[in-house]
Amino acid sequence: MFIFREEITITSPIRFVRDDILKLTPYMPSKESCNIKLDANESPYDVPKEIKERIWNRIKNEHFNYYYDPSCDELRENLSRYTGANPDQIFVGSGGDEIINDIIMAFAGPDRDVIIPVPTFSSYEIFATVAGSNVIKIPLIREQKYGKEIWVLDTRQIKKHFKKNEPQLMFLCYPNNPTGDYFNEEKMLDLINNFNGIVAVDEAYFEFGGKTFVDRLSRYPHVVVIRTFSKIFSMAGLRVGYAVGHVDVIKQLYKVKLPYNVSLFSQIAAVEILKDMAWLKNMQSKFIETRKQLKKDLEKIKGLKIHPSSTNFFLCELGKSRDMVYEELLKRGILTRRLGDDVLKNTLRFCIGSPAQNQVLLSHLREIMS
Ligand code: PMP
Repeated sequence: MFIFREEITITSPIRFVRDDILKLTPYMPSKESCNIKLDANESPYDVPKEIKERIWNRIKNEHFNYYYDPSCDELRENLSRYTGANPDQIFVGSGGDEIINDIIMAFAGPDRDVIIPVPTFSSYEIFATVAGSNVIKIPLIREQKYGKEIWVLDTRQIKKHFKKNEPQLMFLCYPNNPTGDYFNEEKMLDLINNFNGIVAVDEAYFEFGGKTFVDRLSRYPHVVVIRTFSKIFSMAGLRVGYAVGHVDVIKQLYKVKLPYNVSLFSQIAAVEILKDMAWLKNMQSKFIETRKQLKKDLEKIKGLKIHPSSTNFFLCELGKSRDMVYEELLKRGILTRRLGDDVLKNTLRFCIGSPAQNQVLLSHLREIMS
């Protein structure tokens, strides 16, 4: 377990730490042992053996002693085919997290504003704070639509913070983690069209829902899309993410990136997995089908309210104490996620497991909620 003791004494080096860093809590996901891990929006399916074999076969012939391609050329060629964008519109990083950080380093940094509708993915705020940016958090509005509760962008409030003559950065997570669904497209476009800065559209969960801004980049040169191999591609452990945007945006990311940010292993693995589109399609239909079934089953459990999802996870409102439900699930070997945001204090987030894992989750939830 990671323990931070921040006692400021005359001899402690902590007195040299920046004030804003002292106030931060490290992003340290749970390391609780469990049988079914549903806390980090990972895929329950490992990369298939045949694809792993192809990766090993290539890697074993590579020189480990030399640095590997710093601009990920082969991977960008493959991503170009996958996304439809030109290779020079693509930038590869060590996970979507690094891409987020690089975008902040290049376009925000000290004293610039970063606009973040919340609740959303926590890295935006953490990295922007570390970079010394001025973080502006605008709460999402909760609305009822067709009997469902949805999370809506507060465009009026957000636009109040738009500065005409100063460049800014705004993050829009599409679909949004942790609420699970897409924001209304017209509202997204209203913000994009009126913003004087870079709009980072985070499409980490793109493959589970299919909506994208990649095919609209020529119209919106100030939009940069973030994607990852950690979700549907089952490669969270290998750390590969990428950005797609205007060449002039992409060029700036090369200036702030670490020199050899994506390992030989990760580049080759990502190239090989992109060659198997049949596997990807199969994964997509598997997740969509499983999500539909799991939602139906969860909705039958009294005391649970499930938010709509276009991702591989559900945000679930609980009619009972969320700490009790979390602990009871953990006792039974199932790890879920409690988010820190105040508006989410009655919720748990859990990702979609395999059908067998979901059955175990459901049977325990039925028992705990009864
Ligand atoms: N964006 C969003 C919205 C996420 O949920 C995540 C991971 N949970 C990431 C980016 C980063 O993913 P990674 O660094 O694993 O690519």
